[in-house]
Amino acid sequence: MVINSKALKNIFNNIFSSRFFGSGIFAASALLFFICSFSFSINGYNIIYLFVIILIFDIAIHFIISKKRNTEIEKIKNVIQSIRNNNFTSPDEILLDKSLAGLQEEIQAMFLKSKNDIDNLKRLERVRTEFLGNVSHELRTPIFAIQGFLETLLDGAIDDPKVNKSFLKKANNHTENLNQLLNDLIDISMIESGEMHLSFRYFNIKEFLEQIVFEIKHLAEEKNIELLLLHGNENLQLFGDKNKLKQVMINLIQNAIKYTEQGKVEVIIEEKDKFAKIIVKDSGIGIAKENLNRIFERFYRVDKDRSRAIGGTGLGLAIAKHIIEAHSSKIEVDSDLGKGSTFWFNLKK
Ligand code: ADP
Repeated sequence: MVINSKALKNIFNNIFSSRFFGSGIFAASALLFFICSFSFSINGYNIIYLFVIILIFDIAIHFIISKKRNTEIEKIKNVIQSIRNNNFTSPDEILLDKSLAGLQEEIQAMFLKSKNDIDNLKRLERVRTEFLGNVSHELRTPIFAIQGFLETLLDGAIDDPKVNKSFLKKANNHTENLNQLLNDLIDISMIESGEMHLSFRYFNIKEFLEQIVFEIKHLAEEKNIELLLLHGNENLQLFGDKNKLKQVMINLIQNAIKYTEQGKVEVIIEEKDKFAKIIVKDSGIGIAKENLNRIFERFYRVDKDRSRAIGGTGLGLAIAKHIIEAHSSKIEVDSDLGKGSTFWFNLKK
């Protein structure tokens, strides 16, 4: 008989790649033993009987193990199918035999991870839809107002010296709001897509805040509010991105002025061991406790109409929160309704 080398290779491969690899080895050695046993006998008994018993025993064990394994594989298949059909709500519902505790844990962990990933995707989708709804709404408000003023002017108000200038001024204010909203939207989308690049360096915090207070002072003066900068160490150097921190400070101080009718706004530098606390404190309308943790959400305003009327976009604090977090810090707030609010964050020395 000619033994084809390819066929031999196949048999060899089959034996070694089979999941009953152990039985393959056993069968091969049993065959060898069977051939040799023809020439041996112990106490007159041909050793072939011993071989037959061992072979039957092996077949029985093999049969029992395969059956158990098939049942286990069937269970695993069912579990996988149930996961695919979304039949489970919690990983604890995924149960296999005790002997497969390790595999059960792995499947439970995999289920939990994909469940979290899916939940996250759904949440992001909801946030995206909500965000688009908010953006459309926010854009519509100033556009409608501008349209309204222009139409009234075109319908004849342009020739009425009592209103023509004020209508044009109002339309112009709304274009400014629109511009601010677009700038804030660009900022927030850059931040959230990870495109905000910060450039950290040491700078003199007192000089930095002095310049900002100087630039904004006229807003406080228009409302008869005192704007003060309180500092200690003249030469204190802090670490951060000056441009981005300027945006945060302008938002906090402008808010403090916007939401204060009388009294003062204080910008305070409190030096600590390894950092300094930057505080913006006002004596304004304050924020109710239940709204405190929501004011950093995009477009959240305690009083929408009031905020819009004074040129707010509802994005300022959301942007400030991102910028301060990019400095490995956190922006915090405390407030007493009717008495005033205090916002603060830390910067490294
Ligand atoms: P806006 O452009 O409306 O000011 P922000 O994101 O800057 O948006 O602030 C969100 C909301 O938080 C504001 O609409 C206002 O209701 C509230 N808020 C922020 N700062 C103050 C403050 N200093 N005093 C009272 N309310 C404030």
